Amino acid sequence: MSKADDITNNLTNDNNQDDEKDTSASSKRPRSSEDEEDEESVSIDLDSLDRESLMALLTQISASQNIPLSVLLQSLGQSSSSYYDDSDEEIEYPFGTVPTNLQQVAAFIQSDQCQRILVLAGAGMSVAAGIPDYRSENGFYATLPAHRLTATPQQQAAIQHDKTFALDQHLFLENPLPCLELKRDFILGVAERRWKPTLAHRFCALLAKHSQKLVRWYTQNIDGLEDLATLRDKVVHVHGTMSQADCAHCRAMQDTEAFHQHVKTHIQDVTGQDVTAPTTSQPMLCSQCHQPGVKPAIVLFRSSLPKVFFETLPQDLQDIDLLLILGTSLRVAPANSIVWRVPSSCLRVVINREPVGQHLGIRHSNSKRDFHAAGDCESVVLELMEHLGWLSLLEECVDDLPPSSAQLLRHKLAEKKKEAQESDKEVSTESDKAVDKV
Ligand SMILES: [Zn+2]
Repeated sequence: MSKADDITNNLTNDNNQDDEKDTSASSKRPRSSEDEEDEESVSIDLDSLDRESLMALLTQISASQNIPLSVLLQSLGQSSSSYYDDSDEEIEYPFGTVPTNLQQVAAFIQSDQCQRILVLAGAGMSVAAGIPDYRSENGFYATLPAHRLTATPQQQAAIQHDKTFALDQHLFLENPLPCLELKRDFILGVAERRWKPTLAHRFCALLAKHSQKLVRWYTQNIDGLEDLATLRDKVVHVHGTMSQADCAHCRAMQDTEAFHQHVKTHIQDVTGQDVTAPTTSQPMLCSQCHQPGVKPAIVLFRSSLPKVFFETLPQDLQDIDLLLILGTSLRVAPANSIVWRVPSSCLRVVINREPVGQHLGIRHSNSKRDFHAAGDCESVVLELMEHLGWLSLLEECVDDLPPSSAQLLRHKLAEKKKEAQESDKEVSTESDKAVDKV
């Protein structure tokens, strides 16, 4: 692990999981006596840091404090252009300049110039799958009364104060039940394949299988929908995944099916909706260390990111021609560091409703390397696949899509069919005229 990765790993272990909205969550949590013992004060001599390490540190501060990276660099007397590409250097694309529409993005993907593609994905990619809103202000976790969780009065008070404390690594090691009870519905939903991969997931799968240009798909989502859509070795779950199970004590991977079964039969349903659920909870023992630490293989608050992220990223970044940023606010480090760590010649395409990543150096106007395709992931990605000529490849999966995505695709396919019929009609009318003339 490089010094940069080490710093981001150690400084970002407050970042969790489901999506990128939780960066400040654990800072709101009351500090316990254990906190005082375990946390070391962070004091870093900035002059001793190399470029990568300094940027790793600043990216983390930028994300947590909502301060643009360029402003932080300026405050240190540094110009942003000496740290990440902020230059006006022209890059030659097949169509001349940086793409200004999805047709040109598709042309770039199909060109020989584009050989290596990286995807960085976030919550926006899974919205169409219909996963319930667990984490927002009025979501499942926020509205759940803490007194129903199996915990001591002190633990309950801390969770009541900040619901995300139920997902804290230190609490889990002490008492895993609040986390498992909170996550029960999500765990069982993933186990039952209640949610289906979206068009955006299918798009990434086609990038891997059809174009063979996908180097890696870095996802900040934990819903595991990537695993249903593509080749597993292409996906890095930056914040872990609900589709596997591991042990919080020894980190050993666990039998996922056995874990799902345990959650169904040994963890109470705090929502009171599942009548088959038990009325009390029991944790599951690890098959290796025999401690009660089995959990979904997700990154809990104040735990480190999966090693695979730090192992694969340095190599993956080399010679990347296209970075696709799909449905993420780019607020969570270190995943968002990919944005400035790709080569300066790499085209960056942001597919998101709002412009994002300005604090990381992405330009949404007058850029020589960035293009923002505004809109929801599903619509934009469908249009991109149309330009790539991939619609026919999607026909076979139309029944395996979430309902709204299936409707979008059916509408698009019907539109294309109608266009084709009309153009056939025109051709036959023309040829009839030609026959008449003869
Ligand atoms: Zn274990």
